[in-house]
This record gives sequence, structure tokens and C-alpha cells, in this order.
Amino acid sequence: MGRIEACPIPPPPGLPEIEPFEIAPLEDPLPFRNREEFERFLCDVYIFRTTHSTTFHGRHNVECLGIFSPNESESIERCCLQYASHTEEYPTEFECFLIGKITSHNHPSGQTFSRSDIVTWADLPLQEIRVVAPYNVGAYRTYSIKRLNQRRPTWAEMKCVINAQDWGLHNFDSNPNYRHRCFLLLHEMGFFEYSVDPPIQM
Ligand SMILES: [Zn+2]
Repeated sequence: MGRIEACPIPPPPGLPEIEPFEIAPLEDPLPFRNREEFERFLCDVYIFRTTHSTTFHGRHNVECLGIFSPNESESIERCCLQYASHTEEYPTEFECFLIGKITSHNHPSGQTFSRSDIVTWADLPLQEIRVVAPYNVGAYRTYSIKRLNQRRPTWAEMKCVINAQDWGLHNFDSNPNYRHRCFLLLHEMGFFEYSVDPPIQM
């Protein structure tokens, strides 16, 4: 129904439980049926029009996570809220539910995937992870990391490649432009398909 609950992870230390996000009328189903409609909802409603979803609240930012079936219809299976900076792992049952799925969430930072995004994608694994992020007033970018054929690279393999770069793994978490470059490199090396729309001018 018209209510998005928090993901089943405890809030980080010192932060309150996330309040459910209600969409009136409550009796109606959520106003999106698939991945495309969900991402439109993120842009039109969730990002900027929801006080807890923007960068103004620092580490209290709340992301909205949509989980979709990996078939052609990409229909929504579940939707929930989580702290952007969460470091807790999902409970096993929720992880099992995520295996092989497509997920999409907003990044209040406006930046590409975080380390925990790529680790989750690789280790579960997920079919595809997507991020919707504002990069200018009223403009949004979508980032995608998709499995390539049947390849199932591990985070350990990717970490080796990143470690061999001049900047190593150092700065990977703190520098989103460097993360973007690492993802481009891993794409070129065939680890996955990484795409950004519209592209970032480097
Ligand atoms: Zn993320």
C-alpha cells in the first residue's frame, strides 16, 4: 500500500529509526509498477521534495531502494528506505531475496556507486545495480552496473585491479571521480558493463 517502510537493518549508532514514507491516498498501491516508473518517482517526488532524502541533512540522508525482478518487465518486488551511510549488513533472509535482482536507489551525494554498492553487487550477486543522482538543478544522472554474460567477478578480484593503479585503493571511498575512473577501467577489462547517462565529461 502507499507506504514505504525502512529496510530490515538497524539504524547506525546514534541515529533514529527511519519513519515510513507515506504516499496519499494510503489505500492505493505505490504509484510505480516497474523500474522505469520507480526512477521517475525518485526524480519527480522523492529526491528534493522529501526532506530526509537530500544532501542538506548530512549523514542523515535517507535513500529509497527499489528491488525489481530481473526479467523484461522489471516489475517492482519491494521498496524500502535506508540510511545512505549504513554500514550494517542486511539480514540473511533479505540478502537471499536480493540475489539475482535489479536494484535502484537515489544517491543524495549525486555521485557514482559507493564501495558498499559494488561489494553488494558482486558478493550476492545482483543482476544489475542502478543509481539515480541529481547533478544539476532539475537534472539527473543514472548509473548502472550490469552483469556481463555469465561472468561473476568477486570484489576481491576487482580490489586487486584497483590496488594496482597509481592511487591504489587509497582514495577509493573518499574520491567519487576516482571511483568513476576505476569503474570505467573495470568495464574496459570486462568485469561488468558500467554506463552513465548522460555521460560525465572528464
Ligand atoms: Zn549507493
